[in-house]
Amino acid sequence: MNTVWAETALLPTGWASGVRVDIDASGLIIDVKQDAPAVGEQTSFLLPSPANAHSHAFQRAMSGLTEQRGPNPKDSFWTWRQLMFRFLNRLKPQHIQAITAFVQMEMLEAGYATNAEFHYLHHQPGGIPYDNLAEISERIAAAADQTGIGLCLLPVHYEFGGCDGRALTTGQIRFGNDMDRFNALHSGAVSALSSLPKDTGYGVAPHSLRAVSAENLQSYSALFPTGPIHMHLAEQVPEVGEVQKQWGARPCRMGPR
Ligand SMILES: [Zn+2]
Repeated sequence: MNTVWAETALLPTGWASGVRVDIDASGLIIDVKQDAPAVGEQTSFLLPSPANAHSHAFQRAMSGLTEQRGPNPKDSFWTWRQLMFRFLNRLKPQHIQAITAFVQMEMLEAGYATNAEFHYLHHQPGGIPYDNLAEISERIAAAADQTGIGLCLLPVHYEFGGCDGRALTTGQIRFGNDMDRFNALHSGAVSALSSLPKDTGYGVAPHSLRAVSAENLQSYSALFPTGPIHMHLAEQVPEVGEVQKQWGARPCRMGPR
């Protein structure tokens, strides 16, 4: 067990003095006391670490290749996405594990204790599933095991190329699953987390209103009742227009309380 003691610490109840935090061998906080005598590793201030609530780890390795500085009317979400599609077609599972471990290490260095991985890259280049459907999920879990960062894995369901249910484009076929295959993949992803610490979490991530059906959107909470549901609600303007045209409403609207 490790003990950290702080003159001042921010607790859920507010600022407190003489705070002792006991941590078990796996890194979990098991006890917090106020007005405790100084003991163990001592510091002036202690703050909870933030969580990175939205990560696509593999994109770390294409950082700097897009989004040029200064006004460039040709640079947009869509040009970024074209390069992202080209880039990810070169990635193999071992690359994804290495990139994921690298960016998780950077998160830890920046002070994050945990991260939610919005995980949508599931299949081989060309869209053929790996023999193990959850191969890439296992790589992400292995990276978290290596770095020690907390993880909430959010396998992404990506079914269509747009709101009208059109087929996925070449760049998107590594992401795609029908509902049955997604359920199988999700089960494999959850199994991949079994060797990680007990505060490891998982949820489900319908990619966006343009990538899943309305019918499936209503089924996730029943299929995965205990986990968070996380989605890209409105990434860019043309998408909002497409949602309005198809469904007659914007993706998000303030309603009466
Ligand atoms: Zn995202």
